Amino acid sequence: MAKEVVIVGGGVAGIFVLRNLLAKKDKVGEGMHLTLIKRERSGWESVCGLPFALRGWYEIGLTEIQKPQFFQDQGVDFRTETEVVQINVAEGFVTLDTAEVLKYDYLVLATGRTPSMPAVVEQAKLEGVYTFNDEDDAREIEAAMNAEGVEHAFVRGRGINGLQAAVAFATKGLKTTVLGGPPSLLPSALDPDMGGMLKEWLEKQGIRFILERKPLTALKGDGGQVKSVVVGDEEIPADIMVIALGAAPNADLAKDPELETGESGGFVTDSAMHVRKGGCSLNNVYAVGDCVEVIDGITHRPRLSQFASTAVVQALVICENILGELIEQSTLYSPYAPCISPSIADIGGLLVGAVGVTSEAAARAGIKTVNGKATKLIKARYFPGATKLTMKLIFDAFTRKLIGAQLVGEATVAERINELAVAIYAGLTAAELRNMERCFDPSLSQLVDVTTDAAEKALESV
Ligand SMILES: Cc1cc2nc3c(=O)[nH]c(=O)nc-3n(C[C@H](O)[C@H](O)[C@H](O)COP(=O)(O)OP(=O)(O)OC[C@H]3O[C@@H](n4cnc5c(N)ncnc54)[C@H](O)[C@@H]3O)c2cc1C
Repeated sequence: MAKEVVIVGGGVAGIFVLRNLLAKKDKVGEGMHLTLIKRERSGWESVCGLPFALRGWYEIGLTEIQKPQFFQDQGVDFRTETEVVQINVAEGFVTLDTAEVLKYDYLVLATGRTPSMPAVVEQAKLEGVYTFNDEDDAREIEAAMNAEGVEHAFVRGRGINGLQAAVAFATKGLKTTVLGGPPSLLPSALDPDMGGMLKEWLEKQGIRFILERKPLTALKGDGGQVKSVVVGDEEIPADIMVIALGAAPNADLAKDPELETGESGGFVTDSAMHVRKGGCSLNNVYAVGDCVEVIDGITHRPRLSQFASTAVVQALVICENILGELIEQSTLYSPYAPCISPSIADIGGLLVGAVGVTSEAAARAGIKTVNGKATKLIKARYFPGATKLTMKLIFDAFTRKLIGAQLVGEATVAERINELAVAIYAGLTAAELRNMERCFDPSLSQLVDVTTDAAEKALESV
């Protein structure tokens, strides 16, 4: 009998589990039947592309990479606008909102995240207030920002999504205010000095920031439409408002079968990504993506890593483990390594990258650090287009191993973040990074790279 695999969720995480399994489906002797269930109408949607669509670079519709039919044509029972309302891990089935019951041999929970919403916003029940979480949100925001008479935008949240929305509004010519807490922008990725550089860049694009511990106390409307917000004792005009305060893991389905969730609210898994119940791993139930709690690769504490880049690696591990059992009858599971969350974002033309811990996260975990920071041109000074790049490297003060890196510049950020992620995994020290030979061509790089200078600064500081 063909093995039944049921995937709950069709975001990046669920889709990548599906794609990986589809690619090797024919190798499963007894056959494998794949079912994916999701609430949205879309097939494979790239939410990561939505911020740039809002900036007008392309149509929102282009972010749907594959329609449901693409998967249905390959024999997948791909169900959109459908919800799983309950799972029964003892008997191995899920119940849908249509009351239909689907048996499974393997269950993959890829249920994603739910954007946080402050009570004051919910209670106001006004039109013109949006989250920025999916395609529907993007379409609503796009329509609202292009509506006649819209002049003022307000964003609550200073993370990547909030800042991306603010850039879209400012690009459109709206007077834009961002409210976040102190000390600076993207605090989970950047130290305040690096976040400050991003803030200055965005201020030059006309975005105003309120980065104080000031609460959003009220929303005021006119005819059911938001018109202003009250922050402390200031009333700020707002014809459109985006709430981007992060997102909670969507682990509601854990409740009934009493699956383990952690402090963050995400599913707890073992290193093979098996979900846990009553202190034991369920070897045929996996969780993946934004709904999962990861173990931080530096602090060894549980946390969330809500990135598409995290989800695709977890999806790979899960598929290897399911296929390992089905094809090779092996229960030597592949492990998902502790997570260091390399990240990159283009925020209004400034590229911001980070990997590993910030200085503050290290301090919270009791890790003493030394750091080195350097700013340099990315190619020889006589070359046109030689823009500046600032790199901050954070080392464990005791071992001198690299544990965090942050970059702000107009180019070469993504490849460097990946390189520094490898350096963290490899346990490279400040001296090893400084002494490493690097390639040189004046049109492409500097003879002495910014990494060498940043590592040298860290060594000088000890
Ligand atoms: C605007 C935006 C831009 C981003 N940009 C980047 C980027 O550049 N790089 C990056 O790495 N990350 C980025 N991210 C983060 C990244 O998109 C997420 O980490 C990723 O989408 C997580 O995928 P997921 O499948 O775990 O969750 P989700 O995308 O939240 O998908 C969850 C799925 O589960 C379904 N579901 C939930 N519960 C049920 C149920 N009970 N029954 C049926 N279906 C259910 C939902 O319908 C949905 O299909 C961005 C996120 C946003 C919102």
